[in-house]
Amino acid sequence: MMTNSDNSPLRKIKGGCLCGAVTFAVDNAFEKMFLCSCDQCRQITGSAFASNLFVRIDGFDWLDGVDDIANYQVPGRDISKAFCRTCGSGVPWENSDETKMIVPAGSLNAPLNVAERFRIFASERPDWASDLDQISLHAALPQGLECQAKLPLPTQHTIGKIMITCHVTYKLDPAKTPDFEIYAKAWIPLVARFGGTHHGYFLPHEGPNDLAFAAFSFPSLAAYEVYRTKSAADPDCKAAYDFAVKTKCILRYDRHFLRPILDGNLSGIRSQ
Ligand SMILES: [Zn+2]
Ligand SMILES: [Zn+2]
Repeated sequence: MMTNSDNSPLRKIKGGCLCGAVTFAVDNAFEKMFLCSCDQCRQITGSAFASNLFVRIDGFDWLDGVDDIANYQVPGRDISKAFCRTCGSGVPWENSDETKMIVPAGSLNAPLNVAERFRIFASERPDWASDLDQISLHAALPQGLECQAKLPLPTQHTIGKIMITCHVTYKLDPAKTPDFEIYAKAWIPLVARFGGTHHGYFLPHEGPNDLAFAAFSFPSLAAYEVYRTKSAADPDCKAAYDFAVKTKCILRYDRHFLRPILDGNLSGIRSQ
């Protein structure tokens, strides 16, 4: 990884592609940065937005690998995708009037001096990137999420892969339902932390006022056992458990392990 301890504006910094075939040097004095969520940038990056820096062309030099670059010009737009033929990393390209280089910010490995940043084409931002500040933030890939990454949350396409659902019936002290609600809310992210999918807690509304239910799924009984072991050593899980003990909101609970069927169709009855 390239580093640059000197962060002064005119110092040249280096960038390049992941495999190292393409390298360049550029003045660390960028006029503008566009974080663009337009449909073309979404598709061309495969991500929520493109992060492009603009710099005068005379402040830019290729060092190596120009012949390794392929280029795709988006028809009708001043958008190109220049990329390394070997590793596919985005690399810089010239704008149409050849006055500026557009440098993908991620191709640089140094702190950047950028005069001004703009988020553009927000109206074309995909739903899944509309509230990034609401998404849980982790310094690295937390334990348990690795497993979740391979076994995504249930959708029409993946629900068949969830093998075990734990259904819990709680007998509550009705006077302490508000405490139980605090306890319940804590476990929803904790189950996710260890690779499970929480389907929610269901608290009394009408009918018996001392029964509540919860359901959450794991990819297998073995994964559930891993969750049981790891959660026993997790400080947040222990705090949630201690909270229930201290408040005595749960009088007893029963667990059932079930095989979920979450996707439906009519083909079975129509073939009769
Ligand atoms: Zn490369
Ligand atoms: Zn765009």
